[in-house]
Amino acid sequence: MKVNLFPNSNPATDAERTEKIAAGGFGKYYTDNMVIAEWSEADGWKDADLTAYGPISLDPATMVFHYGQEIFEGMKAYSQPDGSISLFRPDANAKRFARSAARIALPEMPVDFFIQTVEALVKQERNWVPTKVGESLYIRPFMIASEVGLGVRPSNKAIYLLIATPASAYFNAANAVTVWISTEFVRAAQGGTGEAKCGGNYAASLVAQKQAATQGCDQVVWLDAVERRWVEEMGGMNLYFVKGSGKDAVVMTPKLTGTLLPGITRDSILSVAGDLGYKVEETMISIDDWRDGVASGEITEIFACGTAAVVSAVGAAKSTHGTWTTGDGTPGPITKQIRETLLGIQHGLIEDKHGWNVKVC
Ligand SMILES: *Cc1c(COP(=O)(O)O)cnc(C)c1O
Repeated sequence: MKVNLFPNSNPATDAERTEKIAAGGFGKYYTDNMVIAEWSEADGWKDADLTAYGPISLDPATMVFHYGQEIFEGMKAYSQPDGSISLFRPDANAKRFARSAARIALPEMPVDFFIQTVEALVKQERNWVPTKVGESLYIRPFMIASEVGLGVRPSNKAIYLLIATPASAYFNAANAVTVWISTEFVRAAQGGTGEAKCGGNYAASLVAQKQAATQGCDQVVWLDAVERRWVEEMGGMNLYFVKGSGKDAVVMTPKLTGTLLPGITRDSILSVAGDLGYKVEETMISIDDWRDGVASGEITEIFACGTAAVVSAVGAAKSTHGTWTTGDGTPGPITKQIRETLLGIQHGLIEDKHGWNVKVC
């Protein structure tokens, strides 16, 4: 399989592109091109085409519109000090995309083919990659069930698409987010799709997001489905808790029980925090541990992590169990240190000991 290049013959001018990159935000403007590849049960994957970004036309009876058979990924291209551009752990995204596909009964895309499509788009759009630290080109691979029909069964056709958008910092790094811990709604249960990166998980989460906003909170925190007690994730990000301070601090994250999305940022921070000399733990953390730990001062910092925002401090937490605030409600020193270290690695400013950066062009 290969990527055929049919790039946009009418791309944005330098001035237009510069303006769109400077506008910042997340997902406001898209680059000149996209990649599209089709799969069918009969013929497998066809070559991918890199072509002008634009609308796609689908029959109203296309399966994805009715039964939500869709998966996606989120990854970033970072500009490096020497002017080159690197992807961060693209193999991890490729492998997770294949695992998500298997769970949603979509075809698994070969890891090499996935990476090839991402590299082709990044090479084509290299001028769209912002150069400041904390900014990047956000890349969104996704796959939809494209068979036409209303019968409920796995689609025998799929379309893979890849789009990209210049991204500035997703959350304001100087501020902590406020969270609503939902005891009413759940994101995922054992045997469900919590480990898969699929649109359906998000569709099911939006009502709780709305409730969080009504409560004056920025994000939802999910508890386990059975006991409504164990902390799982925050919105589309994984969570970290810091116990103690200084060299003796312990950096903890909820362990992967089968209902959490295994974040690549989460996984990277396990290594980064260890490299910085902290004790690292994957463990079970309850809502009571959170409230009591904050009250006693044992829990000193909380942060969320994911590709889009990288690391974002969590301040006040609100739920039917009460309201409490970690520390003074602003990003703590270990949160900042981990954020700066990870961003530094991604931007080539700090040694990449783990071989995570993959140079594209
Ligand atoms: C994508 C995602 C994450 C973070 O994963 P990263 O690979 O770090 O970007 C966490 N939780 C959910 C629900 C997600 O969809």
